[in-house]
Amino acid sequence: MGAPGSGKGTQAQRLVSRYGIPHVSTGDILRREQEQGTELGLRARKIMESGGYVDDATMIAMIRNRLTQPDAAKGFILDGFPRTIPQAEALTKLLAEIGAPLDVVLLFEVNNEQLVKRLSGRRVCELCKKVFNVHTAPPSVPPACVDARDEHQVVQRADDAEDTVRARLAKYEEMTRRPVSGFYSYTGLIRPVDAEGDIDEVTRRMFATLVAGSRADPSDVKKRVAARRKPAKPKARARARARTIVRRKAKSRAKPAAKKSAPKKQRAPVRKSSRRPVRKARPARRKK
Ligand SMILES: [Zn+2]
Repeated sequence: MGAPGSGKGTQAQRLVSRYGIPHVSTGDILRREQEQGTELGLRARKIMESGGYVDDATMIAMIRNRLTQPDAAKGFILDGFPRTIPQAEALTKLLAEIGAPLDVVLLFEVNNEQLVKRLSGRRVCELCKKVFNVHTAPPSVPPACVDARDEHQVVQRADDAEDTVRARLAKYEEMTRRPVSGFYSYTGLIRPVDAEGDIDEVTRRMFATLVAGSRADPSDVKKRVAARRKPAKPKARARARARTIVRRKAKSRAKPAAKKSAPKKQRAPVRKSSRRPVRKARPARRKK
């Protein structure tokens, strides 16, 4: 998960090379289904041509097709989906059905103003179609453009105009980030990644986040929930152990006295009597 301009696509590619699992983006799925002329692809094309959004049921059916391909058997990186709560719910159901629940949801976090700067700074060369950024990646030195021209002819796409960028980010915040990250933090899957700054640094942070979490290595929700409860268990065990040790110490302290003063049969009464005054003493102290 990440806002437009958060660099999640770039980071997804790095996950692909690290883990050797496919990058599954909704854009690619739509394109592929349409190219192959499948029933779903044709349905999606009809919807898009009439200016509508592809409905969740169609999208989920396409994702099912993609995720059940052999190359996704080892795992997959889902990018750009789910964008809404109904989609997140439908995805959870689908992944349960195909027996491939999510292991982790990475949330790439970038300050909003930083995103506005990144996106509105984007320029495209009309001639060679290369993408630049006036802030971070200005047009390169010549000869760079087609026909070894000295200068690129850069323009700003309508989508990258500041007002449009702000509207897109507001929509992402309202429709996706807040509700969907809430959904996944509820199931304990969300892992925020600080996605500001250098791309390689973000990659390093992302892998560190994944490694930090892989200690639990959960493969299903039940295990995951158990894993999150784990830290409490050793503590409880340690407390129980401490209690046992205290009791043993009390026992061993009582033992020599019991041996000296009384025969075996009287040991139990001796211990009982040594406990009673302690219990009585507590309320007495409180009264004072
Ligand atoms: Zn150019």
